[in-house]
Amino acid sequence: MKNDKYLIVVSGPAGTGKDTVVSRLRQKHPEIGISISATTRAPRGTEQEGVDYFYLSNPQFEEWIRDDKLVEYTNYCGNYYGTPRAQIEERISKGIYVVLVIEVEGAANIKRQYPDSTTIFICPPSMEELENRLRGRGTDTPESIQKRLSRAKEEIKLAPTYDEQVVNDDVDRCADEIYALITAKN
Ligand code: 5GP
Repeated sequence: MKNDKYLIVVSGPAGTGKDTVVSRLRQKHPEIGISISATTRAPRGTEQEGVDYFYLSNPQFEEWIRDDKLVEYTNYCGNYYGTPRAQIEERISKGIYVVLVIEVEGAANIKRQYPDSTTIFICPPSMEELENRLRGRGTDTPESIQKRLSRAKEEIKLAPTYDEQVVNDDVDRCADEIYALITAKN
């Protein structure tokens, strides 16, 4: 599809700091847009409707699937997550970069549909550090932390299937590295 190259897919296990890195990237380069996903999980902490996610009920999400409003979707740790089609297609057709922060199945799905997109995997500096960050966040239950840690181990195995791999040892440095990767390709 035309203009796929403006699509940037970022994945990394929960707690790896990918949202913080992408926020920093966009602070430094406000021309870069982000895709807001739909989810059936409940809002966490200070999250807001239409800013962090579109929060849908299960029946609403299934309606979006039927209406083909999602370019990809998956079930992650018991909840649906999906990328709305309209937002991304409108932006990339105008030559605006859009970053999708999504999990590994969604990333593979996007890469199949948009072969010229750039997929970037953000790795934590270590598994110990990842566990500390997940616990420190204080927003997940112990059960959810365990689920996310075991899923993280599986996800990290897929890092080599991404176009690029970066380590989030420092948010600023990592954001700069991602910007350099994006712009080097185009
Ligand atoms: P969280 O519940 O921590 O916000 O997100 C859980 C996981 O779902 C994260 O890895 C996040 O990147 C991923 N995710 C968020 N939105 C989407 C989406 O639209 N599609 C897919 N496939 N994954 C998503």
